[in-house]
Amino acid sequence: MGSYDGPVKQTNEALGANIAKALLANGYKSAVYAATAEEARALAAALIPDGCTVGVPGTVTVREVGLIEKLAEKKCKVFHHWDPALTSETKPGRLKDENSADWFVTSSNAITVDGCMVNIDGTGNRVAGMAWGTGKILFIIGLNKVERDLERAIARARNVATPPNTVRVGMTTPCVKLGYCVDCKSPERSCRAILILERVPFGREAHVVLVGQKLGY
Ligand code: SF4
Repeated sequence: MGSYDGPVKQTNEALGANIAKALLANGYKSAVYAATAEEARALAAALIPDGCTVGVPGTVTVREVGLIEKLAEKKCKVFHHWDPALTSETKPGRLKDENSADWFVTSSNAITVDGCMVNIDGTGNRVAGMAWGTGKILFIIGLNKVERDLERAIARARNVATPPNTVRVGMTTPCVKLGYCVDCKSPERSCRAILILERVPFGREAHVVLVGQKLGY
């Protein structure tokens, strides 16, 4: 049997290049396409200087590309709150450290072809770090998160990204059983703040690596 991957790779390259162009027009300092997670990790590691501090909020993508391990090799101090040793007393301090690091490295729940990002948050720390911070920010985004427009991007964030994230943290919201969002009134509801990044906020240096494979939720 022959390989049918070629057309997919070519389409992904075209999509990645077009979104990167839109992101540059939206104020991102750099926006590049990487075909694989390995390439994305190398590009991210080349951007982030050795020895700096890096905040990593709740993101499956950044972990899937192996960037945390790579940053440790680069002697970076990584702050992240998916640490089982944290307690209710120590976690708030860790969240502050994440958001005040030299770099904030995250993904996005969805991105439109014209370079707008949509993110839903429960605690608000992740969207806060995306909207404002003194450090530089890097987004690593798999092309599985691309949508044509904002309406579909918001729908993706609710119906595709949030249900598995809710399962991951052990909640029992309706989307856990249904597999899609019903805009619930559950006290455990994890959708509490939505950020639409239409452009890079004033004064922020922001970078994006788009990846031609499925990453994160
Ligand atoms: S609003 Fe409720 S049902 Fe919808 S995705 Fe969020 S937690 Fe799930």
